[in-house]
Amino acid sequence: MHALIKGTIYVSPDAEPIRDGVVLIEGDKILSVGQSVPPDSEIIDCSGRTITAGFWNSHVHFFERKWANVAAIPAAELQRQLHYMLGRYGFTSVFDLSSMWENTRQLRDRIESGEISGPRIRTTGEGLVPPGSVPDVVLNMMGVIKTTMPEVTDAASATAAARKLLDGGVDGIKLFATRPQGAPLSAEAVRAAVDETHRAGKPCFLHPGTGEHVLIAIRGGVDVIAHTTPSSGAWNEDILSGARGIALTPTLTLWKYYARHDRVSAQEKVTNTAVGQLRDWISAGGTVLFGTDLGAVEYDPTEEYLLMTQAGMTFPDILASLTTTPAGFFGESKSGRIAEGFDADLVVLDGDPSKDIRALAAVRHTLTRGKYAAQNLS
Ligand SMILES: [Zn+2]
Repeated sequence: MHALIKGTIYVSPDAEPIRDGVVLIEGDKILSVGQSVPPDSEIIDCSGRTITAGFWNSHVHFFERKWANVAAIPAAELQRQLHYMLGRYGFTSVFDLSSMWENTRQLRDRIESGEISGPRIRTTGEGLVPPGSVPDVVLNMMGVIKTTMPEVTDAASATAAARKLLDGGVDGIKLFATRPQGAPLSAEAVRAAVDETHRAGKPCFLHPGTGEHVLIAIRGGVDVIAHTTPSSGAWNEDILSGARGIALTPTLTLWKYYARHDRVSAQEKVTNTAVGQLRDWISAGGTVLFGTDLGAVEYDPTEEYLLMTQAGMTFPDILASLTTTPAGFFGESKSGRIAEGFDADLVVLDGDPSKDIRALAAVRHTLTRGKYAAQNLS
C-alpha cells in the first residue's frame, strides 16, 4: 500500500482542498482519503506539494515518427518516450485524435499488458478527410508517420468509413473538415459520420479550419470541436448559440507556435483571437476539455495554462478541464477525482497552482494505475 502524506489534496475542482491529508492507494485503486497512515505503508512525502487527480489531455496524436513500428521499439525506450511526452506533465489519460490505428492499438496493448507503464489511451484511429492532400513537405516538417487517411466525399462514403473504423474497435471518430488543398467536407457527410458514430455509442470529433466549419459541426451533432479557429475572426452568434453541451479542445498554444516566425503584432492578434473564442465559448455555456494537439506542438503545457487563464479561466476551471469534465464527458465514472474506489491516477505538483497556474506543469510525481509512471524531478 502507498500513502501520500502531508500534501494539499484537491479531491475535485469544486471542493475545498484538504490540507495535510493522506491518500491511500491499494493496487490500482484509491483506498481512502483521510488522516491515518497504516503502519505497513510505503510513504510518499508530499510536504509543501499539491495532489490532484491525474490529468486528461483530450487532443493528442501518436503520429510522430518516434512511434512508428511501435511493436519493435525496446520497452525502455518506449517508456522514456511516453514519459517525455505525457507522464512528465501529469497526463494519465489521453484521447488520440487521428493516428495510424493499428500502430496506436499496439502501443496501447503494450501499456495495458503491463509491459510498460503509461497513460490510458483512447483513439479515433485514422481521421476521415475530404479529398485533397497535405503536401509531403508539410508532413515531413511535422515529423509524422506517412498514413493513408480514409477519404470521404458524401454521406454514404462517410458512413462506410466510420463503420469500418468502429468495427475495428476505435473509441471515437475524427473528421477533418478541410485539407490544405481541396474542398471541405460537406454537411451531409458530417451528419452521416456523426450518426454512425453515435449508433456505436462513441463521440465524434471535428477539426475545423474556419467558423463556418464549426457551425457545420454543431449543426451536424459533433460532440467535440477539436480547435479554435483564429484565422476566421471572432465566433458569431450562430456558433455561440449552439455551444451548450458541445465540447471544445482550445489548442491555444498551437496558433502561437504556428505564428512564431511572424511579426510579434501578428502573433498577438492570432493568440488574442483564439483566447477570445475560448472566452466567448465559455460564456455561451460550451464545455471545455483541456487539449493541446500534442504531437504537433511542444510538449510543455505551461503556455496553454497561461493562455486559458487569459480567457478568464480560474484554477478550478482549468483543473476541471483536466479531470472531472473529460471523465464525465467520456463516461469514465471512476476517473477525474480523488475518492474511494476511483482509479489511482494521481499527480503530485511542486507548489500551489491556486496561487500560480504554472505549478500545474511543475509535476513531481505521476501515478497511473497506482504505479509511478514517473519520478519526475530529482
Ligand atoms: Zn490534432
